[in-house]
This record gives sequence, C-alpha cells and structure tokens, in this order.
Amino acid sequence: MPGAAGPADTVVVGRTVTLAGDAGLGWVEGLAIRGDRIIAAGSRQLVEGAAGPRTRRIELAPDEVALPGLTDSHLHLAEAAIAADAVQLADVATLGDALATVRAAHEAAPAGTWLTGHGWSADRWGGWPTATQLETAAPGRRVAFWAHDHHAMWVSSAALSLAGLGSGSVDPAGGAIRRDDHGQPTGILHEAATSLVSSLVPAPTAADYEVALPRLCRELVALGVVAAHDPGLLKPDPLLDAAHVAYGSLDDAGRLPIRVLASLRAEALDGAIERGVRSGHPLGSDPDGAARVGWLKLFADGSLGSRTAAMLEPFEPDPRLDGGGSGGVSGGADRGIWITPPEQLRSLASRAAAGGIATQIHAIGDAAARAALDAFEPSSTRALRFRARIEHAQLVAPADLPRFGRLGIVASVQPVHLRTDADMARLAWGSRAERSSYAWRSLLDGGAVLAFGTDAPVEPINPWPGLAMAITRRWPAWPVGSVAFGPGEALTLDQVLRGACLGPAIAEGSSDRGRLAAGQRADLVVVPGAGFRATIEPGGLLATTRPRLVLIGGKVAFEA
Ligand SMILES: [Zn+2]
Repeated sequence: MPGAAGPADTVVVGRTVTLAGDAGLGWVEGLAIRGDRIIAAGSRQLVEGAAGPRTRRIELAPDEVALPGLTDSHLHLAEAAIAADAVQLADVATLGDALATVRAAHEAAPAGTWLTGHGWSADRWGGWPTATQLETAAPGRRVAFWAHDHHAMWVSSAALSLAGLGSGSVDPAGGAIRRDDHGQPTGILHEAATSLVSSLVPAPTAADYEVALPRLCRELVALGVVAAHDPGLLKPDPLLDAAHVAYGSLDDAGRLPIRVLASLRAEALDGAIERGVRSGHPLGSDPDGAARVGWLKLFADGSLGSRTAAMLEPFEPDPRLDGGGSGGVSGGADRGIWITPPEQLRSLASRAAAGGIATQIHAIGDAAARAALDAFEPSSTRALRFRARIEHAQLVAPADLPRFGRLGIVASVQPVHLRTDADMARLAWGSRAERSSYAWRSLLDGGAVLAFGTDAPVEPINPWPGLAMAITRRWPAWPVGSVAFGPGEALTLDQVLRGACLGPAIAEGSSDRGRLAAGQRADLVVVPGAGFRATIEPGGLLATTRPRLVLIGGKVAFEA
C-alpha cells in the first residue's frame, strides 16, 4: 500500500502513541506521511519500507514520544486573543506595581484609545483602588479594568465623565457606584453598574481579531494544540460575527495555522438558518478551509462561583452570608437561575437541528444538565454529523450520567477548572460534590465521549496542566495535606489523551483526525516521554510538557 503512489514525504521513527482501537495508547514504532496524510503506522520495518531516497527522516530520541495533535474543545479563542493584549493585573502583588504596569501600557498605547484589562483584587491590594490613582499613571486615558471575579470594575476619571457619572448619579438596579464622603464616584463600579462603562468600550472589530489571533494561534501550536472549538465570547454578544469574519479572512490568507470551529449565539440563529449556514460550513472562501462554523451555543444556567448554577436541590448554606441561612435572599434563589429555560433549550436545539446546526449547551448545575439532556432527547437533534454536546457538565445527577452515553452526547469538560472549583464545589454542593461533580470516570464508564478544553481566557491556554489534573485530581499549589477531589473519578493516561486528541474530533464528526493511523491527517506532536512513563504527579512532568516538534498536515508547524 505505501508504494502505490510513490514513497513517503516524511517518516517519523520512534515510540508513537496512535490511540488506535477503543482503549489503551496503541504504541507503534513509527509513521510514514505523504502530503497531509499518514500512509502507514506500524513497525520500524514497515515505515522504513515506505521511505524513498528523498524522504525526510524524523528520528525521535529514545526518551521522546509522538502523539496525535491536541484539540482544545472549549477555548474562547477570539476573546483570549484580545485579552492577551489587555493589561494583566492577576499576578500583580501591589497597587504600586499595578500603577507602574498601567503607566507602561499607557505610554505604549495610541492616543485616544481605551486601556482595558483584568485581574485586580481589593483583597490583595489592601483596599479599593481609585480613579485618581489611575490619573497619575495614565493621565486623560479612558481605562476600564475588570476585577479578577468580574463583579467590579476600576475605571478612570475620563471613563467616568464619558459615562456622565458624578455626584448626582443614581445607582442602577442590581449595581452600586462606589463614592467618597462628598458623594463623588471614586472609580469603582459594582455588579450591574459596571455596564455603565463597559457598554462604552468599543467591541473588537474583525481587524482587531485579525491582528490578535495569529499570535495566540502560534502560542497554541507551540503547546501542541492543532485545533480549537471556539464557543464564542464569554458574554452573549450579537457582534460575534466579527470573529467569524476574521477567522474566514485569516484562513483565506493562509494565516490561520490551526483548525477552528466557531460557534453561533442564539441571537444569530435565525439569520444563520436563513442564509443556509450549517455546522461545518467554511467561514472563508475555500470549501476545504480550516475555519468552519461550529455549534449553536446556548447557556442553560450561570456559574458555580456566583451560585447561579441551576440546581435540582438547593445549594448548601453560604457561610459568607450573615447568619449562614439558606434561601434568605429571595425565594428559590438557592436553586440558582436559568439563563435559558428548559422549554426554550428544547425548541432552540430542535430548530437549529432542522437547519443543520448542532447545539452545545452550557450546564453547570444538575438541573441544567438534566434540562440539556432532555433538550437532546428528540432524535432529530442528534441526527447531524456534529454531535450534540454539553459544556462543563460540572454537577450531574447520578441517574443522568449514563444518558450521555446512551444518547451519544459529548461531555465537553475542562479538568483544569478543578484547581479553583474543588473548594467552592464542596461548599456549594456538600456531599453531592465528590459524589457526582466533575464525574469524568462515571461519564466514560457510561459510554460518554469526553472532549477536553481549557476554557481560556478563564484559565490559561496551556492544555497540559489540565491533562495531569484529570489523572491526579489534585493541584500542586493546594495547601499541604489537601486530598484528591473525588479520587474515584480519576482517569488514566490513555483516557486523558483520548479526551485531548480524539474526543474533540468525534464531537465534530471528523473520522480522519485525532489518531495516528493510516488515512488520518498527519497532525502530531513530539514531546519528552518521561511524563508518559513516570507516575503522574500534580504539577509533574506531564503537567509541564513542552513539545519539541509539531507537524500539522505533514508540515513542520513548530520546532523548539
Ligand atoms: Zn467557556
């Protein structure tokens, strides 16, 4: 077979993980590649037999391993690309350091533009920062910095005056403007008041994305990520189209090094159906292009941290609230909220499927997961090449776990979330937390396909710490003596690599990528093998993996 159309362009010789078959790593001794495809995978002899005099040889070192390229199946890629250019305050220890960072960003930015950023914390800096302080670092500049938890915003005097905020301003419903003794706004806006300024910050344009995306994509390739599923911006935003335009034109220009599936929001559904847009349609002009339409993205509920996940049973009492009583704020609030009510999830998923668009539903609480599974119960929603999928699936009632497998629904999970969620989950869900949250092993045992992601920019774009987390269920920076979270739900190395490489390909209905076998796309990553042999430790060799070489479509895309 290898000889039928001439010799291989490239042979890769060394320890290779193929993920062939239904379980295990599937070791072979090498691969032969012609064009963008693998033409042989097997023994050294088989691979060498496919080589001709002009074939390039890639010989792995004895301690190296080749793997299929990774796909991040939940990466807010366009948003992460823009966020990478913003002022990063998450690791800034003091207000003084922050102001120095702001001054440098102010001096580098063109006149008249906004400075945006995120990551500050009043706790960490020992008090609320002010607009006056920003004025010393960035005089006259419009500034809007999100707090680390996105529940408050630090803004400059220029931003306050653009928003028309002064001593006479009234707090909006659900929000508060922080004020000094004279009633003047200090520059901190809480909750709903943040939108008084955030709504004035210009949304990124397609041109902004076209500048920012190639840079971030190159970083992803260097980490071994060859494809991403972009569920859209973190907040509902009708201007999502700008990112789609950018993906299409970058792909047409040959400037998109990875495959991207970009999702649609509910408000874009009718227009998409009218235009005949379907899951898998190219975003650029090449019908075989790398940028394509993904899923319809719906939000069933809110989040764990803000206790807005939709719950079958109430949250545990919140110790942060005075008195610690449950349900004291408003009736039923302790069961979270619906962003999209169950009957609407059902009708939207069915309408999208009728138009050829598959659906992904964000579900954190167990009531949300159940409603999402119910929405996918009609077989019409599961008849497409793209699989129906549930994002996060953080708490799933035990009775619902096998429904993923039975219905063929992909569980799109982000193991790295456990780093910060473990404590919150124990507080919010009590004994339910370790019994049925982040229940990756149970989902797999019930026949579900797992597809891993990072949820960047909520978490960093590096996929490797999350892969280790799925095995150890412990984070290296947790306090000494911390125990693994729900150790019975830990995965094995082969299950984790399937979640990182193969599950996302199954989710998008691609049968020709995610494995290293004859006929598959030649997307592969060469990494140090030590992390794949030693016992997996939190923050150990697997978590700190860095590829030495990445091939995409048979071509070298990164070399260390
Ligand atoms: Zn997300």
